[in-house]
Amino acid sequence: MYFFKPLQRIVWVFWNLQTHCLSWSFPVGALNVEFSRPVNLEEAKRINPEVREGGRYAPEDCKALQKVAIIIPFRNRDEHLKYWLYYLHPILQRQQLDYGVYVINQGGEETFNRAKLLNIGFKEALKEYDYGCFVFSDVDLIPMDDRNIYKCYSQPRHLSVSMDKFGFRLPYNQYFGGVSALSKEQFVKINGFPNNYWGWGGEDDDIYNRLYFKGMRISRPDAVIGKCRMIRHSRDHNNEPNPQRFDRIARTRETMNSDGLNTLSYKVLKTEKYPLYTKITVDVGSPKN
Ligand code: BGC
Repeated sequence: MYFFKPLQRIVWVFWNLQTHCLSWSFPVGALNVEFSRPVNLEEAKRINPEVREGGRYAPEDCKALQKVAIIIPFRNRDEHLKYWLYYLHPILQRQQLDYGVYVINQGGEETFNRAKLLNIGFKEALKEYDYGCFVFSDVDLIPMDDRNIYKCYSQPRHLSVSMDKFGFRLPYNQYFGGVSALSKEQFVKINGFPNNYWGWGGEDDDIYNRLYFKGMRISRPDAVIGKCRMIRHSRDHNNEPNPQRFDRIARTRETMNSDGLNTLSYKVLKTEKYPLYTKITVDVGSPKN
């Protein structure tokens, strides 16, 4: 277990003063994350009594600087979601964020479309609250250090920089997959994410290209703070590697202005408010239309 060093304590107090949050709930640093013991939602609910219905939280005694919507693209991963909620809620509260958790569930059996689900999450979360920051997180990624703050920075932030799956290093410099954070302005500037990456792979590289072409650069925590664990799983049904991804990534510059937030169409099928998250089930259409 990591213990807060004096200098970091001062920095944290200073951060609290900036955010008008005077609380003694410090980040603890390195965390023990493991998936051998099953967790249940009742337990997660019990240890997070201050989280309000729909997975909303804001510090009581101060005004957080950022309003953060956490968007999770989803289909048939209930076991992973339990771990995510169990580990993340305590971390996000220690980080003193004003946040909400939105699970965007792709209805039907069509090929999975991660980036389109993220676009939908952006739009739907904004209908509920005046969020200024959006953290896009895969459901199976858990940070191993709570100094990895789930907030936005002056440049787009990549948070999952040091994944166990990749031997705790970046697989390549432009990698922007897993968990990332964009302010509302940064997201709008790139016309959101692409809607036409069906199946596994490539959409995160397209997002990187979009940011790069708009003159932005990626900010990242260091390799220690950015450590995270992925829950091992077999490949999802209807999420085969997308054979078109290489061709699409090569054409981001041409396509980004005509594919994104400005062409997003979908149907909300159901909105469910659970104690620790909001689940929005959507019809994303199909590659044919
Ligand atoms: C894919 C990305 C993926 C990365 C790491 C790349 O080849 O295009 O979508 O995140 O590999 O697995």
